[in-house]
Amino acid sequence: MADIIQLLPDHVANQIAAGEVVQRPASVVKELLENAIDAQATQIKLLIKDAGKTLVQVIDNGCGMSITDARLSFERHATSKIRSAEDLFQLHTKGFRGEALASIAAIAHVELKSRQENDEVGTQIEIEGSEVKSQDVVVTPIGTSIAVKNLFYNIPARRNFLKSNPVELRHVIDEFHRVALAHPNIGFAMYHNGNEVFNLPESNYRQRIVNIFGNKTNEKLVPVKEDTEVLKISGFVGKPEYAKKTRGEQFFFVNNRFIKSAYLNHAINSAFDGLLREGTHASYFLNLEVDPKSIDINIHPTKTEIKFDDEHTLYALLRSAVKHSLGQFSIAPVLDFDRDANLDTPYSYKNKSVQTPSIEVDRSFNPFQEETVSKASSRSSYTKQPAASWESLYVDLESKSTKSSKDFSEIQLESEEQTPSIFTDSSKLESNHTTYQLHKKYIISPIKSGMLIIDQNRAHQRVLYEEFLKHITIKESVSQQLLFPVQVFFSPEEIACIEQVKQDLEHTGFVFTHFKDDHIEISGIPVNVPAQEVSIILERLISDIQNEVPDTNFSATDLLAKSMSKSLAIKAGQQLTGTEQEHLVNSLFGCKEPNMSPTNKPTFITMDMNELENKFI
Ligand code: ADP
Ligand code: MG
Repeated sequence: MADIIQLLPDHVANQIAAGEVVQRPASVVKELLENAIDAQATQIKLLIKDAGKTLVQVIDNGCGMSITDARLSFERHATSKIRSAEDLFQLHTKGFRGEALASIAAIAHVELKSRQENDEVGTQIEIEGSEVKSQDVVVTPIGTSIAVKNLFYNIPARRNFLKSNPVELRHVIDEFHRVALAHPNIGFAMYHNGNEVFNLPESNYRQRIVNIFGNKTNEKLVPVKEDTEVLKISGFVGKPEYAKKTRGEQFFFVNNRFIKSAYLNHAINSAFDGLLREGTHASYFLNLEVDPKSIDINIHPTKTEIKFDDEHTLYALLRSAVKHSLGQFSIAPVLDFDRDANLDTPYSYKNKSVQTPSIEVDRSFNPFQEETVSKASSRSSYTKQPAASWESLYVDLESKSTKSSKDFSEIQLESEEQTPSIFTDSSKLESNHTTYQLHKKYIISPIKSGMLIIDQNRAHQRVLYEEFLKHITIKESVSQQLLFPVQVFFSPEEIACIEQVKQDLEHTGFVFTHFKDDHIEISGIPVNVPAQEVSIILERLISDIQNEVPDTNFSATDLLAKSMSKSLAIKAGQQLTGTEQEHLVNSLFGCKEPNMSPTNKPTFITMDMNELENKFI
């Protein structure tokens, strides 16, 4: 029988390879931007037409190419970035496969112009479907411009497979964000159909994030920094109260390369554990620097997935770094019994002294001080005090245990125990309270049949929710006048969202003085809203409205009341005085529907004596 195996012609091989490298206009954007960065450009411009379907052009001021290199760059496996397989383990460039330009040229019309610094003139090449149409000498600035037109013009099936322009543009912008975030020291600009979409000057990392995601991002960022021998972590996480329902702002960069990693994402989520509202996602912008030898980026053609040698250590370091930052910025309670200390520091830190383990105690706590129930604004006032030994948690329990063991009110609260008081009979007085706060999360109260366990956050949500509903419906509320009106900046869509519920907001106590294209001016706010939380509350409201599936039951009033009560309710982790606990319990049972939170979750459970006694059998 005759031989039947043939080598595929180059242009066919390139088209096949293109399928791996180029899925959509955004893939071209990624490859061209990365080439410009590898060429040491300091200014990079991206021009897009029709979401990249008609044109993707990248202009850089990088090193440019010689006449021969310009021609060679379109050959498959033509790269200036590696010479041998060993180089793969020392990668400091984005590209290394030498297939991007060959692949792109196989499925589009490509025009390249390039000039090196010491050359008088540059070179211009036109290629269509892998075929070189022309190569000329041109006058062109130093650097390279590559225009990719009519993507997939010769593969109609792939072209038809592309999504609508808004969807493709979203992908392009995502790609642009990733590259721009990984390189704040490079200036980037992006234009779509002739209009400027982004103009990002060279800057530091924080400014880059703010320039991309808007001025209001600045106050949301908490810095994360950790330097160890295996790994350097730097960047920011978003404060938990700003967490969004969409996963949009989650960025990991490893050695300046954007990567996706469900595993590392999990590490962050676990650092945020208990701090996020249900259904919201933490945002993060984190750079990990590791030895290039310890990773393998070669496992995926578009290189967003990489393999780490020691994922477990990375996980533990990342989790503890983020947790530490959240704690330092008083966002999370530092005390964490679940934390596995071995995981947190898997090896010895250089130049770091051993720290005595400490627990967090508020020594200035005074049970007799008048405080309001709404403590949302005091979230940032956690005080860290020197270590108190763990035994102190148990002191006094013993002596009390001779009394009726069934009466919870007799048990000393840990905070009370450590509170020096001028009242001689303070423990007696405080123990008159019939509630006990467990792990700053639940309030326990004895009832006739046994005991009641109340979720403090959900209970408070219910109380606030009914209050807001009342104010909105009877249109009667008390407003606090702001000395200086607050301006809050939003996008036009976000402003439109707020306008939807403007009247209801006014009934809760908001007073708006301006509704402009990009900001709202507020001169009055509801009494129970702390002024510094206004922008967070409105942010969440917008996100709740945007994520609401519009159905027949949609009620702006209800949504507003739910959103505001969620924002303002006492959170888990917040210590409550005996008086506050009682006030909350009483308010809850003064509600119309005390047993459910506004989102239909139980606010309390009961355990009767039989159940309890059965547990001791
Ligand atoms: P890779 O980036 O993997 O090397 P590409 O196909 O993307 O492969 O590019 C091939 C070669 O073309 C690169 O190695 C580089 O030498 C050259 N090149 C591509 N784009 C540029 C650019 N913007 N400036 C300078 N040289 C470039
Ligand atoms: Mg490349």
